[in-house]
Amino acid sequence: MADTYLKLVNAQPLDRVAKAAGLPRPVPLRRYVSGEPLVPGPVLVLGSSPGTQAVASILLEWNLDVRRHLRPKEKFGAAVVILDELRDPAQLSGAFLELGSVLRQLRPGGRVITISRPTAGATAPQTAAARHAVDGALRSLAKELRGGATANGILLGDDVQTDASGVGAALEFLLSGKSAYVDGQFITIGTSAGTQARRRSAPLAGRTAVVTGAARGIGAEIVRVLHRDGAHIIAVDVPAAGEQLAAVANGVGGTALQVDVTAPDAAGRILRHAATRYGSLDIMVHNAGITRDRLLANMDPARWNSVLAVNLESQLRINEELLASGDFSSAGSIVCLASTSGIAGNRGQTNYAASKAGVIGMVRATADALGGSARSINAVAPGFIETDMTAKIPFATREVARRLSSLQQGGLPVDVAEAVAFLASAGSAGVNGQVLRVCGQNLVGA
Ligand code: NAD
Repeated sequence: MADTYLKLVNAQPLDRVAKAAGLPRPVPLRRYVSGEPLVPGPVLVLGSSPGTQAVASILLEWNLDVRRHLRPKEKFGAAVVILDELRDPAQLSGAFLELGSVLRQLRPGGRVITISRPTAGATAPQTAAARHAVDGALRSLAKELRGGATANGILLGDDVQTDASGVGAALEFLLSGKSAYVDGQFITIGTSAGTQARRRSAPLAGRTAVVTGAARGIGAEIVRVLHRDGAHIIAVDVPAAGEQLAAVANGVGGTALQVDVTAPDAAGRILRHAATRYGSLDIMVHNAGITRDRLLANMDPARWNSVLAVNLESQLRINEELLASGDFSSAGSIVCLASTSGIAGNRGQTNYAASKAGVIGMVRATADALGGSARSINAVAPGFIETDMTAKIPFATREVARRLSSLQQGGLPVDVAEAVAFLASAGSAGVNGQVLRVCGQNLVGA
């Protein structure tokens, strides 16, 4: 599973050889470490709208070194570009060119974040053009940055102002090492819903979370990160993984529940367990998933049906019961694991991509139905993540898959877990029906 190339290319003499030969030069990413600064240096705030001051105030409250200008050659850790009142493409050049003029001063692991509005909300062609232009510029910039730096955007619904709770939650996630493998993405904050956590170090304090497929890989890491953020954990997996499951649950003082998510009584058992042990359920993470890859020409019913049953039909059934149950919190969050295969397609994975694209369809429709309530449902779509699942990929294919992203490496399970924790937090309740890709801006497909 280890990325040997990444280690070699960061040590002498191969670092110079790789540079001379124009080979990919991935660097170790800046990941979250408790107690470390949120950003590796001053935060440059660019923008002239009234909303700019609200963003600067959020950053100042966190004791960050906020600047409107930089001195020549002064290094900085992040730039936040506020474009919430764009009406004309001509308004773009000021902020983007100013950013470009200092970009060489951005520290490794730095961040660029735009705050703008979704194209869909604009009626005038000029406004829609200006809003959508941010999309192209930001995604291109993400491909230009090196040294583990990333560029992502926050999109504010037309009724949402820059001081909304979701803006703070998204800014904190994107500025920090928690978003290490999120690159070239936009997070839409559709409403002003959400409350800031009383303790920033424990945003999930007092909430109870179920994580399915928790015995290993990404699920086990989600368990650890949600627990770190203060949640009580119910770890779910099949009886065959019982020993590993118990170890993961014990590691965080949680409970292990042996349930096959495809069983007709799965939702009932999960809800009863949560209600009996913890009073109610606040966070449901649908992580259990399987692959049974075959070209469609060689596909058999067992492979097709089992993948659809575990990855999609179980989520549909459990959600239906959850949302109808009084034991699921009125401010509950559901986070579903999709995949970039479900967005871009993948050879040999018609069944898997169908299941993961189905999850995205389900998330969007359920979010619409939840509109107006304090509940939310979102998906996380991982790209290439270093796990047992991807260790099975043949060497050459695996090596190509690793390098074909803007960050030139695979992600780690913790990168997916951090995105899940962000979407499960009360601060991000205004994020609903979204698909957050954790793929290092994978260059293949969408
Ligand atoms: P994994 O195979 O390492 O772990 C999956 C876990 O799910 C296992 O513990 C397994 O026992 C459990 N599980 C399987 N069927 C179950 C069932 N019917 N009921 C309960 N538990 C069940 O997989 P992973 O790589 O950690 O992937 C986790 C999730 O992330 C999956 O949904 C996967 O599709 C998705 N994903 C992974 C990657 C990647 O690169 N690894 C990429 C995109 C999406």
